Amino acid sequence: MDEFGLIRHYFAAAPCAQAATGVALGIGDDCALLDLALGEQLAISTDTLVAGVHFPAACDPYLLGQRGLAVAASDLAAMGATPLAFTLALTLPAATPEWLQGFAGGLNHMAQGCGLALIGGDTTRGPLSLTVTVFGRVPVGQALRRSGAQVGDLLCVGGALGDGAGALPLVLGQRRVAAELAAPLLACYWSPQPQLALGQALRGKATAALDISDGLLADCGHIATASKLALRIELERLPLSPALLALLDKPAAQHCALSGGDDYVLAFTLPAAHLPALQAAGWPIVVIGQALAGSGVQLVDGQGITINPPARGYQHFGSTGD
Ligand code: ADP
Ligand code: MG
Repeated sequence: MDEFGLIRHYFAAAPCAQAATGVALGIGDDCALLDLALGEQLAISTDTLVAGVHFPAACDPYLLGQRGLAVAASDLAAMGATPLAFTLALTLPAATPEWLQGFAGGLNHMAQGCGLALIGGDTTRGPLSLTVTVFGRVPVGQALRRSGAQVGDLLCVGGALGDGAGALPLVLGQRRVAAELAAPLLACYWSPQPQLALGQALRGKATAALDISDGLLADCGHIATASKLALRIELERLPLSPALLALLDKPAAQHCALSGGDDYVLAFTLPAAHLPALQAAGWPIVVIGQALAGSGVQLVDGQGITINPPARGYQHFGSTGD
């Protein structure tokens, strides 16, 4: 199959690439065209996943398709944007039908779950990598940025932390455990659920937000810097899943939650007055600390005593990563 046949068969023909609201022109021309309503802004984000760096080259292509789109869509959730469409730039060492079938299946499953239409991309030969660019819409001025946190706001997260990091040694084959212990964590890793609805519910309420991809401490540091204040995190308030606590002791689970990354859960600051209505509406919001005058991220124990945080999150070119 040539390049055009491959694009047609696996991508242009996928259910997620068919006509969709907001897509004036999809795959097949030199550009796709998106419609925006008056008073809306386009939210755009790109993520690249490289084999051997972000995922094992031999992983299940269906799971890779799912995860590749989910991590990109999570950035739309973090901005409070409504999902619209995405493009896919795929570099492949070879066009293997079984691999492409699986990959396109996982991609399509996640795309339909998120409400994202596939509108274009690029297909090239080379070492396996994928780049996903997502597009969302948001009312002018209502995107959730990192810079709006106010002293006194609560620091909140949208669910359990550390599962992705707890799963990583299992994904990499560095650790083997019983299938029933591994399954829930592997599901979190391979099929993160971008908190798109929560992000939209936080518009006009949260003062700052992001999705946790590099670890809670590192990512809260971004809000603290952008908002020019300090964030205090109370260790005992970190939500840890039963699945993670079944695999690791509590200090190790807390370490995953603080520094692990791969959570794709929202972290945000919220004026306390908004909390009761959001919780009453059923949003899974957990308060883990607050915003204070100052700078940086502070970790405190149950008595309010400062603890030295462990190594911060993953950085590709920093002193803690490679
Ligand atoms: P061009 O050379 O004009 O960039 P291409 O030949 O690369 O166009 O692609 C032809 C069409 O197929 C374009 O509309 C492009 O967006 C789309 N496309 C290419 N690769 C993919 C892919 N992996 N997934 C979805 N659409 C793709
Ligand atoms: Mg091209």
